[in-house]
This record gives sequence, structure tokens and C-alpha cells, in this order.
Amino acid sequence: MHRILLLPGDGIGPEVTAEARRVLEAAADAAGIGLEFETELIGGASIDAKGTPLTDEALERARGCRALLLGAVGGPKWDDMPVNTRPERGLLRIRKELDLFANLRPAAVFPALVDASTLRREVVEGIDLLVVRELTGGIYFGEPRGQAWVNGRREARNTMVYDECEIARIARVSFESARRRRKLVTHVHKANVLEVSQLWMTVVEEVAKDFSDVRLEHQLVDSMAMLLLKEPSRYDVIVTGNLFGDILSDEAAMITGSLGMLPSASLGEAGIGLYEPVHGSAPDIAGQDAANPLAAILSAAMLLEHSLDAPDAANAVRDAVADALASGARTGDLVAPDQPSIGCRAMADLVLSKLGSR
Ligand code: NAD
Repeated sequence: MHRILLLPGDGIGPEVTAEARRVLEAAADAAGIGLEFETELIGGASIDAKGTPLTDEALERARGCRALLLGAVGGPKWDDMPVNTRPERGLLRIRKELDLFANLRPAAVFPALVDASTLRREVVEGIDLLVVRELTGGIYFGEPRGQAWVNGRREARNTMVYDECEIARIARVSFESARRRRKLVTHVHKANVLEVSQLWMTVVEEVAKDFSDVRLEHQLVDSMAMLLLKEPSRYDVIVTGNLFGDILSDEAAMITGSLGMLPSASLGEAGIGLYEPVHGSAPDIAGQDAANPLAAILSAAMLLEHSLDAPDAANAVRDAVADALASGARTGDLVAPDQPSIGCRAMADLVLSKLGSR
């Protein structure tokens, strides 16, 4: 029996997590894998009920689980709170405490959705890339940080810092991923101005020596931002630090069409994985059964693959999603406003029926 912790969070988080759980349970059941679900609060929901975006008890419970399935956190209700007590802090804390250093964000285009992208069909066709972002280091966590008065002026600083072990372990994840894919790693950096990037270059090259079957190339982050729009299907695995990865993974997300389609996994050395859709809590459509549950369902597929070692069950879920889309069903985010669409629950029902009929 594997323990799975559900962290539904805020906005559409509870809606999409509930649907992802149904699909996860069905796929695991079909594969003979037993799951036991628990639920904890995170984000704004936890602030309202417990006064903090993540309680110590929730964190302890997470430590005892095989994997965590999260919805989304945040919303206008908590927007005016100080940065270090906001809903996002719950997410940052759980990533840091569980040392979830590797964020994997696949961006692939389902054939049925090629025309959902703002880019031309011929540019989008065949996109199948994986952004591997370092998640627990770099400028988002480096010290010193903060604001101060210096010589009568307001000044603010953040620090970008990485040591060689942090770089080597994320590089390793990217090469191992590439080995199971098209065997190309593109390391994204800003080594022409940043010493931190120069160390990344050196360490990534060193790790590459253990993966002679994988090709390594380096790309400046500013060029990469352009190349992702020009020829996205050329890339396989993109590995980079926290800041560049944050930006590039959202760019990669948008070129595939809807945010409602994109899953992610955050993995660490303790063996616990956190799975969540890339999108936020979408307060504008929360509580209306209008959310696209597919990003959460595809996150559950990543959970099957990475935490439960069930790649066949994961692929069955992905195929069921592709079948549901191929049948023409669309949630509101995937169609023009005047086009027919179905709700969150109905889309999950359809995926479940496709899963059952495979
Ligand atoms: P968002 O991703 O919540 O929404 C952006 C747009 O995409 C909205 O129009 C929304 O309706 C739509 N959308 C997003 N997911 C969808 C889905 N599954 N189905 C259909 N439509 C979908 O981003 P935002 O509006 O910038 O942020 C809203 C809140 O979410 C903020 O409080 C933000 O801080 C938070 N947020 C949380 C996370 C997270 O939990 N990981 C990530 C990003 C934003």
C-alpha cells in the first residue's frame, strides 16, 4: 500500500485534484497497485484554517508519504499579505524541507491540440521537450537578501549562489532523463556575465563524461528564449538553474497551447515526489466546474511513472487523455469563447472511460 498525500490548495486546486485522484486510483487499480489517500491543507486554505500556509503537522505527514499530489495555491484574498507569510510560502517550504531539488516540466503537444498554440502549426508540431529546473537553490534562496537603507537610499539585494554538488545532482537528473528520451541535453546559462553560470558549465561538462551516449550542448539564456519560439521541436531536455528555469518553463508551457494541459514533478533524494499542474489557482473560474483537469491528471501520470515505478500505467493515462482529446472534447480553455465545451468533471469522466476501454 502506497500512501499518497493530497494537497488540494486554493481556487481550482480542489476541483482538479479530486479528478486527478479518481484517474490515479483507477490506473493504479488496473495495474494492481494499492494506494491510500490522505489530505492536508496548503496555501490560503491553510492560512485561513491554521494561520500558516503549511503546518508542521502537514509537513510531517508529507514526509511519511510516497508522493504528494498538489492542486494550486494563492488567490486575491491573500494578495496583500507580506511575502513571507503568503500562500506561495507553503509551496516553497515543502519543496525546501523535502529537498525537492529537481523540477521536471514536460511540454509536449497533443496532436489534437496543435492549433491551440499561438504559434504556427508547422512550428508547434512535434514539440516534445522536458525542462529540468533546479528548484531549491540559486537566487530565490541565496543569502544575503533583503531591502535596506544605504547612504540615504533604498537598496535591495538577492544572491545567486550554487555549489558544485547542487549543480552535479541536477545535471545527473537531466542526463538520466535524456537517456530515456532523444538523448540531447541543452544546458542553459549566462556564462558570459555570471560566474555562477561558469561553474555550471564546468560541472555539467564533468557529469556529461558519465553519459557518453547523450549529446550535450550549451545555450545562452537570452538566445534560448528566442530559439524556443523559433524551433522548439529541436530540443529534448533543457537543464538550467532556478531563475532561468522558472521563466523558460513558462515560455515552453505557452507554446504548447493551454496552461491547463501542463503537468510537473519535483523530485528529491529522499524518494518523495511532489506532483502538481503548472497552472495556478485560476480564481476567475474557481467553483464553476470550468477548469481543465488534464494538467492535474497528467501530473498523476508522472506520479505513477516516477514514484510508483509504473511507466505502463502512466502511459495508459496519457493515452486516455490523448483519446479524450481526439474525440473532440474540450474544456473552456481549449476553445474559442463561442465554441462548445465540457466541464472539469465531464472531462475526467471521459478520460476514465477511455482508460477503462483500453
Ligand atoms: P493561473 O494559472 O491561475 O491562471 C492564468 C489564466 O489561465 C486564468 O485565466 C485561468 O483561468 C487560466 N487557467 C489556469 N489554469 C487553468 C485550468 N486548469 N483550466 C482552465 N483555465 C485555466 O495564473 P494567475 O492568474 O497568474 O494566478 C492566480 C493565482 O494562482 C495567484 O494567486 C498566483 O499566485 C497563483 N499561482 C499559483 C501557482 C501554484 O500553485 N503552483 C502557480 C502560478 C500561480
